[in-house]
Amino acid sequence: MSTYARIKRTVTTRQAAERYGLSVNRSGMTCCPFHEDRHPSMKLNEDYFFCFGCSASGDVIDFTARLFGISLKDAAEKLAADFSINPRPPEQSKIPNCHAEPSHDGARLCTCVLREYLRHLRIWQLRHRPEKPGDPIHPRFAEAMQELPTVNHLLDCLLGNDLLLARQTAEVLCREGHLRRLSEYLGTLSEKERDCA
Ligand SMILES: [Zn+2]
Repeated sequence: MSTYARIKRTVTTRQAAERYGLSVNRSGMTCCPFHEDRHPSMKLNEDYFFCFGCSASGDVIDFTARLFGISLKDAAEKLAADFSINPRPPEQSKIPNCHAEPSHDGARLCTCVLREYLRHLRIWQLRHRPEKPGDPIHPRFAEAMQELPTVNHLLDCLLGNDLLLARQTAEVLCREGHLRRLSEYLGTLSEKERDCA
């Protein structure tokens, strides 16, 4: 069994959330850490989480990665350390296993975050478009015009057929902290903006 599978089988999303400081009520609901959430709207199920406010979802490794703004690989390592799961049991450590850590998890996370941003940008581009020449430019419209080409380009790299390019793009986004900052930024968008989006 891969390290990822062992972690997912051992740690529930609820256990991780509580360990990392979220308070979870009796029905498994907690205030979502990924959007401004005053009333618990995130449901922590045994093996996945789902937010009814912002639609964030995933497994315990996705949750930890997003919570700390780290890669899925780092999140798996953190969970293994925090829940005393031996990442490589002795019987497996002798067998070279190239498939133990899916190399596309980083790309998957980057794609998720960038798609969420893209969704906002497209809506802002339409919603805040100046109606006539000379109208003041809305900052959200300016942001959309400025960022859309970059976001589209990054998604092309991540989703194209060139798997090496996808992995390198994801690595740069994760390593340089771009992804973490973007996740945090998306988390700061007000509920109103999210509802509109
Ligand atoms: Zn949420």
